[in-house]
Amino acid sequence: MRALSLCLVLVALGCSHASGKTPATSPGADQEMRTLLTELVAVNTSNPPGNETAAARIAERWLREAAIEVELFEPAPGRGNLLARLKGHGGGRPLLVLAHLDTVPARREEWSTDPWTLTERDGFLYGRGVQDNKGMAAASVLALRRLQREKGRRSRDILLYLGADEEVGGGHGLEWMLANRPELREAEFALNEGGLTELSEDRRQVRFVALQASERVSRNVVLRATGPGGHSSAPPVTANPLVRLAAAVARVGALPFPARLTPAARLHIQARAPMTEGELGDALKRIAASPDAPPQEAVDTVAKLDPALAAVMRTTCVPTLFHSGTRSNVIPATAEATLNCRLLPDEDVPALQARLVAAVADDSVEVRMDTRSPHSPMSPVGDNAVFRAAKAAAARIWPGVPIIPRQSTGTTESAMLRRAGIHAYGIDLFALTPEDARTAHAPNERVPVASLQPGAEFVYQLLRELTK
Ligand SMILES: [Zn+2]
Repeated sequence: MRALSLCLVLVALGCSHASGKTPATSPGADQEMRTLLTELVAVNTSNPPGNETAAARIAERWLREAAIEVELFEPAPGRGNLLARLKGHGGGRPLLVLAHLDTVPARREEWSTDPWTLTERDGFLYGRGVQDNKGMAAASVLALRRLQREKGRRSRDILLYLGADEEVGGGHGLEWMLANRPELREAEFALNEGGLTELSEDRRQVRFVALQASERVSRNVVLRATGPGGHSSAPPVTANPLVRLAAAVARVGALPFPARLTPAARLHIQARAPMTEGELGDALKRIAASPDAPPQEAVDTVAKLDPALAAVMRTTCVPTLFHSGTRSNVIPATAEATLNCRLLPDEDVPALQARLVAAVADDSVEVRMDTRSPHSPMSPVGDNAVFRAAKAAAARIWPGVPIIPRQSTGTTESAMLRRAGIHAYGIDLFALTPEDARTAHAPNERVPVASLQPGAEFVYQLLRELTK
């Protein structure tokens, strides 16, 4: 009932929004965002098992209250996916907006608040999923309600997809939906998670709004050494697979990975360089001045000071698992190590495999790798409809803040959309310091209270611009 009465207040406010001027936000809008986020956080959608249907039902209720068409799909019991359509009037291909309803798990004892109770404390809102990704889900639902109330003319439909199973591969979520709901493939653009809106450490200034236009692709490589095995009391001179594998891992671990800037990474570094000071700023400026052949020592400096930023510029392969042995007095017959590689979206994988084989330098250590192309096309960057819309939207909320492209080091479902021919872009609606951002997937996930309403407004403004 409370949500309904707020809705009526906002219907009245909505009349002024259709004027084309910057719509003012209201205390009521802030309260709606908190109310919906509270409801979504209260549903434990830790994946596995997910249980996303319960959260999807909440979003469904909020959308139906505004007379927006909604359908729910359950590829498996409890794994609900919501698809809503806000009809437009023009003939443009639809805009797809996505957020996922599942979260990574949380352990109550590691948190200072209850992870499933949205809690305000010391200027932050805490709760599992506030960043990743229920905040975006709530803001998107509210943006659709607001656009519906305004009854303005829209050039295209907006499809809102609130999905299941993002954190564990999407088999019950986007992958299933793309295979079974052809209307998703009609979208021209998609807005998803994966961007970065960076707040300075002193929280006084939003430094930039970065739209994710490409991402690196995760791929595992297995190094496998074998030997006859035997009793540890009578070791052979050379055949111990553990010894050979350890030496091979050490050589691969020391392999340098040269930087190569994709179009999104190049524009990102060129934009970040002038706004970054000190040793990191100097290194970025040297890379920005020589984007076709980034100086290795500058890349090494960035890797030392900001590993995530350096990772944007290159493929990396890192040893993460070691498996061997059964007993302390048995020489094992096999030893395996796993390297987790993160491939640039246009990586030449057979060439990478050849480099790894050369680094291993031991014919008795097998290098197992899927050598297919990462097949992760990049969304266009630069002066296009999405960047122009983001610029116009951000100018109303964070005046003067630059909009820059980004290639994320982590993985999102946008790769699946890009493969389906949809130009997908990642946004981060909440302005976060690097410290805030690190709480996603960690205990005490949080967003600054001051970032909540501007974030919801950014989503609304973007949708409004893209459907003009
Ligand atoms: Zn996420």
